[in-house]
This record gives sequence, structure tokens and C-alpha cells, in this order.
Amino acid sequence: MTRHLDPATRLIHSKPPGPRVVRTVGPPILRGSTVLLDTAAELYDDGILTYGRSGLTTHDALTSALAELEGASSVSLFPSGLAAMTAAVTAVLKAGDEILVTDAIYKPTRRFCDNVLSRFGVDVRYHPADLTAPEILARAGPDTRLIVMESPGSLTMEMQDVPGVANLARERGILTLADNTWAASSLFKPLAHGVDISVQSLTKYVCGHSDVFMGSAATRDAAIGKALQDAVRDFGWSVSPDDAYQMLRGLRTLSARLDRHGASSLEVATWLAGHSAVAEVRHPALAGAPGHEIWVRDYRGAAGLFAIVLRPASPKAVAAFLDALELFGLGFSWGGFESLALNGDPQLTSRDHDTPRAGPIIRLNIGLEAPKDLIADLDQALAVFG
Ligand SMILES: *Cc1c(COP(=O)(O)O)cnc(C)c1O
Repeated sequence: MTRHLDPATRLIHSKPPGPRVVRTVGPPILRGSTVLLDTAAELYDDGILTYGRSGLTTHDALTSALAELEGASSVSLFPSGLAAMTAAVTAVLKAGDEILVTDAIYKPTRRFCDNVLSRFGVDVRYHPADLTAPEILARAGPDTRLIVMESPGSLTMEMQDVPGVANLARERGILTLADNTWAASSLFKPLAHGVDISVQSLTKYVCGHSDVFMGSAATRDAAIGKALQDAVRDFGWSVSPDDAYQMLRGLRTLSARLDRHGASSLEVATWLAGHSAVAEVRHPALAGAPGHEIWVRDYRGAAGLFAIVLRPASPKAVAAFLDALELFGLGFSWGGFESLALNGDPQLTSRDHDTPRAGPIIRLNIGLEAPKDLIADLDQALAVFG
């Protein structure tokens, strides 16, 4: 029949040469919305992949590698870390439920809780980020369904007793979720400590190069795993097979990069702790820093993100310090190979339980540059700060 086809039809039906699959180190990138099926019966077979929104080669390679990292039985992918958070929370809640959320939660997650969850009849309650596990559970009532943790907290870096909260919550039939982006589920594994859902923004350390968005939600519980998969399907989430490939590539070097980020950030933090312009260093791996005992107990290493509180100064002096930095870029997000800085105070205005600090708070992402060069850059910029 092919002989009689119009040139336009031939263009569409030209077939690649027969399948000859060679083995490369990474998986083949299968791109496709339509999945071609061999028989009519397969069109409606629920047991096989019939549509490419998820479940293609690189999606599967990435989810199985992430399941290994998280110690999970099931991992769902989302097009950003924020989408993973909002989907995971939504997947396990219904109208009338109450959730307890750390006040130091990533601000866009808080926006979702306040603007969306509350419209659908979920009662959202925030608690101070440095409460102990029994103090948090004391706030739970008969309708509390979920406790959302983030440790260390966004910008202010409070450590939470994640295992303690998970264990007490389980006794009371309350689910727990941890935004574990800082530890990348390499330095700390929430599921191994009894947390029901481990979420991370893969955009940060797993990607490692500040150029791909993605998020994951992992669990060991079959029913929660199904709820997460249903959320992917019901909300129509999909990640690009090419992006999944890039994430998998990042994942292969995660441990080596984290070792370097952690060692460099400790070196820089230690130097900053001795500087007269610095009132406080909030790095959980630094001896004497807030939450250090929890880090020693639960974490196998340090990440590259921490905060410093400068001595009291005008916003103008803070801007002069940031503008004087040469190696540190100014920008949001983190976890990439490049060092970044930003002032945190403008983002802290929506908190319910913010505690007073001596001065302005600055967040630093320590990249893969040589720490001595980063210290020299901070030294000259702090001289401008005064
Ligand atoms: C960046 C970040 C997110 C959101 O991730 P995106 O991939 O940027 O949407 C969520 N939680 C934390 C703690 C983050 O730092």
C-alpha cells in the first residue's frame, strides 16, 4: 500500500531503521505522549503503559534510583518541588481535616496552605519551628490529619526533631510529611525515621546545576503511594523525559558533590563565626549552633546552605554588603555549583512566630568553588558592610 501514498503521508509514516538497541551508561530517552499498542485489546489494558505522561524510560530509571536513595517503595515525580509539596499534602487531606505546619516552612508552600487548602475546608495551623516533638503533638486535636515538617527551616534554619515527631504522631494515627530538600535524602532519610512522606525539591542538590525543575514525593506505605500516584494522575502532572534524564545524571554525583558542599560550608561558617560583623551563624553542623545536637544524632553529613545573622545595621548597609560580593551571585534557589547570597528578612514578614534576631539575616549557598576564595570574597564585602 505504501507505494500509493501521498508524500505528506509518507513523511509521517517513514519508519526508523529496525530496532538496534545498544547499551549506553544512561538509559535511552524515550519521548512520547502516544504509546503505540500492538493490539486493540491492549488499548484498554490497565496493566500496561498506554500513555506517556509518566512511566517512560527515563521516568522509571529516575524513580527507581530515587527509591533507592529514599529507602522508599514508591516515588512520584512532579514538575517542581513546590508541585510535589502541594500534591503530597492534597493527596492525604480532605475537607474538615486540620494540619499542623512548621512556621519556618518554605514560603510558597505556606502560600498554598493559606490560599488554597483553606478554601477547601482544611484548617491550617502554624507552630514555632523550634518546638520539641511533645510540644508539637500537644497542639494536635481530633481533626489533625497531617504534620508538615521542614528541617532545617527555610531561611532561619531551625532544626526539628523529625524522628520524635514521626514516632509520636504515628502513635496517634497522624501522618507526617518532611520537606527534606536540605539533606537531599542523602544526609538524612526521613522514611527510615518513621516519616510517612519524604518530599524534596530535586531542583536543588539532585540537579546540582541550577537548570532543571523537578520534585519528588516518596513513601514506604502502599496506600499513601497509591494516593500520590492518583494525585499525579488526577491533577495531570507530567515531567519531561529529557528533564528526568538530567535529574538522573545529577543523582549519580550527588554524594560526591554533597561531601564537598558540606566541607566547604563548614569551613566558611567557621571563619564567619569569628568575624566581628557576624552576630550568629546558623549552620546545624557547626558546634554550638542551634539544633546541632539533632544534626549530630540524625545526619550523616552537612549540606552547603546556611544563614548568618549580621550585627544590627541599616538595609542600606546590608545591600552594600551584598552588592560588594563578587563570587557569590545574588539570587533565589540553591544547591548548584555556584555560591549564592540573599537577605532573608523581606521573606519573613508572613510568619506567625518569628523570633527576634540581633540583626539582618543572610542566607548563603556554598557552591563548589575553593573555600579560601569564598572567604576572601566575604572578607572584602564585610569590610564594605562596616
Ligand atoms: C526550592 C524549595 C522548594 C521548591 O522547589 P522548586 O523545585 O523550586 O519548586 C520546596 N522546598 C524547599 C525547602 C525549597 O528550598
